[in-house]
Amino acid sequence: MIIFGYREATLQTKVFEDDTCDHCGQKGNIACTVYSRHAHVMWIPLFPIGKRKVAWCQHCGKIFQLNETPPDLQNQIREFSRTQKAPFWQWIGLLLFAGLIVSTLFRGYRETSNTKKYLESPDYRDVYCLKYDKGYSLMYVVDFNEDSIYFLDNNYVASKISDAKDLHWMDYYELDTIYIYSRDQVKDLYYKDKVIKSIWRGLPFKNKEMLFEDDDEDEDEDFDDEDEDEDDQDEDEDEYDGEEPDNT
Ligand SMILES: [Zn+2]
Repeated sequence: MIIFGYREATLQTKVFEDDTCDHCGQKGNIACTVYSRHAHVMWIPLFPIGKRKVAWCQHCGKIFQLNETPPDLQNQIREFSRTQKAPFWQWIGLLLFAGLIVSTLFRGYRETSNTKKYLESPDYRDVYCLKYDKGYSLMYVVDFNEDSIYFLDNNYVASKISDAKDLHWMDYYELDTIYIYSRDQVKDLYYKDKVIKSIWRGLPFKNKEMLFEDDDEDEDEDFDDEDEDEDDQDEDEDEYDGEEPDNT
């Protein structure tokens, strides 16, 4: 359950020395406290939503409505309240949220501009993410020349584009068939048909031990164990990344 609402922070209290309480007759005891209110979600402050001022007598405890006090005191209270500013931390949620949006937009922008760049100048091991009716899959650049690009096709499909990177395992690719597209066809797949969603350069293979498959097994036993540990860590990080947006 998500709990949201508003809370208040006490900013400051000022005592007005010249004024007299009309309830107990004591002079110099009228005080005003200013509070800053902020909206929160799960007690994380989002942004300030205004101030509240309370005038009261420190001697007898009577609380005054602002319009009950003499006009001169009213002005002093208003002026005092006006100088009080919401503390920085009451903006923290909005700042985090804005930061998240900006970084998401920036990442999207960078990925799009990289993809357009890689379309023009392909390289070995570029990974193309494609959208089909049933989900997202990959193609892997194994060769290219001035006219064409040579791909391996991935046999698997992920439901989300963020999960498609996990399909980049060598044994997930159809190794015995090479698909050849002209560069113009590839550009059409991106600009016109919008089948190519993204191109990733330098994407590491998910299972690194596959690279050592043909080597002597005894010799590489320790190495493989280390690799497995690394993969476990990768998985943990992936899980953490997945949960992060829910927390904020
Ligand atoms: Zn009083």
